[in-house]
Amino acid sequence: MQNGGVPDVTVRRLDFGYFVRPATETGTGNPRVEPCLGYLVVHPQGAILFDTGMGSHPEVDAHYRPRRVEVREALAAIGANISDIGLAVNCHLHFDHCGGNPALGQTPVFVQRSELETARESKDYTLPELIEGTHFELVTGEADVLPGVWLMPTPGHTEGHQSLIVRRPDGVVIVAGQSHDTATQYASDQLAWQAHRDGHDQPLPNFPHWIDSLQRMDPRLVYFAHDHSVWTP
Ligand SMILES: [Zn+2]
Repeated sequence: MQNGGVPDVTVRRLDFGYFVRPATETGTGNPRVEPCLGYLVVHPQGAILFDTGMGSHPEVDAHYRPRRVEVREALAAIGANISDIGLAVNCHLHFDHCGGNPALGQTPVFVQRSELETARESKDYTLPELIEGTHFELVTGEADVLPGVWLMPTPGHTEGHQSLIVRRPDGVVIVAGQSHDTATQYASDQLAWQAHRDGHDQPLPNFPHWIDSLQRMDPRLVYFAHDHSVWTP
């Protein structure tokens, strides 16, 4: 994946709507409205859909009160069509990241093998009907998807969480899903990494080990699933 001959790939945001996290889960005493965002990576060899939106279930809907935008609608809003999708990625398999999987038919969906095993074995991990018919492409660890586009494990939110790395002619763009809930949390870990690298005096906060792999790529942009804000250096 050298810089010469890197395909011109674009990353576009998809709006899957929002949900309301109840006050019992926010730690602030107030409910919080959180966006649900996916991404469309437009590559000369085919479009890649990253996450597919929120699934629906009466209990989930009562708890999170989602305002849902279906995957077809989210794609149409940016002038794309579900038939354009060559392959898809789920960063992880909670209901708000794989809700549109059933609409993908036989389109391959890349997921970490450990994530699918956890989703199938753990009660209430996801909505089983969202993943039962999906044509999963199972990967373990780093995996190439298309030239200049690859997956990297970024565990934390779930053990099998993964991010998508896109090498563009002008630098690396990372679609990090829910590696962090917010760009600000990513920035905190990035600064902790920087302070360690600088040999700054302890004590310093810990950070996920994979921040080192991501930051060594000198990313220009890092996108998230539940934050409109974007991390930039
Ligand atoms: Zn989520």
